[in-house]
Amino acid sequence: MTTATQNRPLIMVTNDDGVLSLGLQQLADALAELGEVVIVAPDRERSAAGHSMTLDKPVRADRIRSNCFAVDGTPTDCVNLGVHGLLPRQPDLLVSGINKGSNLADDITYSGTVAAAMEAMLMQVPALAVSLDLVGLVDVPDFSYACRYARHFSQQILLNGLPSDTFLNMNIPQGCPKGVRLTRQGKRVYDNKIEVKRDPRGRDYYWLGGNQLGFVRQTECDCGAIADGYVSVTPLHLDLTNYQSVKQLSNWDLCLL
Ligand code: MN
Repeated sequence: MTTATQNRPLIMVTNDDGVLSLGLQQLADALAELGEVVIVAPDRERSAAGHSMTLDKPVRADRIRSNCFAVDGTPTDCVNLGVHGLLPRQPDLLVSGINKGSNLADDITYSGTVAAAMEAMLMQVPALAVSLDLVGLVDVPDFSYACRYARHFSQQILLNGLPSDTFLNMNIPQGCPKGVRLTRQGKRVYDNKIEVKRDPRGRDYYWLGGNQLGFVRQTECDCGAIADGYVSVTPLHLDLTNYQSVKQLSNWDLCLL
């Protein structure tokens, strides 16, 4: 191995849309210019898997080609397997995506794409989640702008590192972005409707995941950036504490009588 090869960054790529998804393949190709890319991704779609981890059954990884593993687990499983088992060393960067559909505001807590980046951050691996906003049903999305921004931000992370306990959640609007905004996590409005249908045997079944009715306009929020046609980059961390509420709760009588 030459010195040049040894110095090439090791970049792990994963997602929650599955190892065969177009967004993942195009992302891996775009990042190959920056370093050695290893794909460790779920063998099927695991969207909305959140930060779930498989603890009750064995997890298998099939090497389906050089530097590409298909895992019968969640995105979080993939990051664990990749970092602690399949990769030759700790990666210099993990990039998750490119997800087919945005991951904004409250949605990020459901997202397997974002959870994979979060898991990497917990392992001290710099991480970036990338999602493409899609309006309506799109069979073959155009990932080209998302790839360019993913590569650019990956390069920035490799050059500058990230603040501690921080990873980036990037969303790209449809079409040519007007620019980039550094944003905060916004607030969605859902209708929370559950669809009830009846199966051919006469039993009711339910379809979850109501429509998104929009978002609450807040200064510099991620939803606003996408609605305005800008790339949204939100630095995230795992501390979900509501610090403002601590004062209010401290007025409670917290002790058992
Ligand atoms: Mn997905």
